[in-house]
Amino acid sequence: MKTSEKIIEKTEKYGAHNYHSKEVVFEYATGARVTDPEGRKYFDMLSAYSALNFGHLHPEIVAAAKEQLDKVTLTSRAFHNELLCDFYESLCKLTGKNMVLPMNTGAEAVETSLKTARRWGAFVKGVEDGKQEIIVCNNNFHGRTITVISMSSDPSCRKGFGPFTPGFVNIDYGNIEQLKAAITPNTVAFLVEPIQGEAGIIVPPEGFLKAASEICKENNVLLIADEVQTGFARTGKMFACEWEGVEPDIYVLGKALGGGVMPVSAVVSDSSILGVYEPGSHGSTFGGNPLACAVSIKAMEILVRDNYPKMALEKGAYFMDKLKELKNPDILEIRGRGLLIGVEFKVPAAPYVKALIANGVLAKETHEMTIRFAPPITISYEEIDLAMEAIRKAIG
Ligand code: PLP
Repeated sequence: MKTSEKIIEKTEKYGAHNYHSKEVVFEYATGARVTDPEGRKYFDMLSAYSALNFGHLHPEIVAAAKEQLDKVTLTSRAFHNELLCDFYESLCKLTGKNMVLPMNTGAEAVETSLKTARRWGAFVKGVEDGKQEIIVCNNNFHGRTITVISMSSDPSCRKGFGPFTPGFVNIDYGNIEQLKAAITPNTVAFLVEPIQGEAGIIVPPEGFLKAASEICKENNVLLIADEVQTGFARTGKMFACEWEGVEPDIYVLGKALGGGVMPVSAVVSDSSILGVYEPGSHGSTFGGNPLACAVSIKAMEILVRDNYPKMALEKGAYFMDKLKELKNPDILEIRGRGLLIGVEFKVPAAPYVKALIANGVLAKETHEMTIRFAPPITISYEEIDLAMEAIRKAIG
């Protein structure tokens, strides 16, 4: 039998050590439940960093994938497939935008949004090509490519990876005065996470997104919302920008868009912005492939039909209330929106994470002091109660 120990040993032996994975092997998983090779059972409270909003193996999404597996999985964009148009339509209906550019991973979608903003700056706004500036926030997390880490303020993401891509200006997250001061005639975009996920579930000061959106409009600067982690109902709204009634010019989407089955990401905007591309200017072999489209279309259908934003809002409030009853003097703050919740400690959180896992709750610390709780939105109230029993044993 392949034991957890042997699997982990082999993984560490052959794989680059760019992750420090917790010592749990997923053998089977459905909904919010995970079983390891030894038969131990866990609640998944990370959901692959919000990519599993629909839970593991959502039966309808799996059925859509299986059906497509018998038809066609990959065409490349050299040819058409019958589902890409429907994927576009669903995403436009969900966002209220009218144009989509499909990619695979979140980082690729972020890169695509940066290329879009630069081109729009050069072709539409009239900024001299090569002079475009994009404003980003300190403590952001937008992915791992060279250009994306060029925007990062986290030394561990950057060390040894220079030279970096120029053209970015960093401001403090939530600081509207700094945003105003950073805008120049060459500014083409402001890229922001509506809630900073990897930084430790940081909710910006109330009114920040709204004010940022107005300042962007006044200065003909595109507002790009990176909703890769916060989108698709995670925070109790379809998109987290809705918390402040903000409609960004560009949505960057990923993770849950793939229904927990395929990597699917996209940049969604209007033709006045995404219209800057012509054939040959950008692309991806796998972007928009029919298998990805099949699972994503089904995922979006379920999201609306079953009112996932309401589910996340109500279950999030229930879960948050229970977490707030925890009595532990090491807890500094509990914050978040919907089912994206951070418990910040005054001390390193790793020992608490270890205790959680020993009690059957899978979670991981982010930025040392904060534990993120982001279970599948499909988790039941009974499962939240059961998980809370384990959380109380481990933390409370
Ligand atoms: N943007 C945000 C806000 C994210 O949280 C992440 C991943 O955690 C990414 C982008 C990058 O996504 P991916 O890992 O799919 O490249």
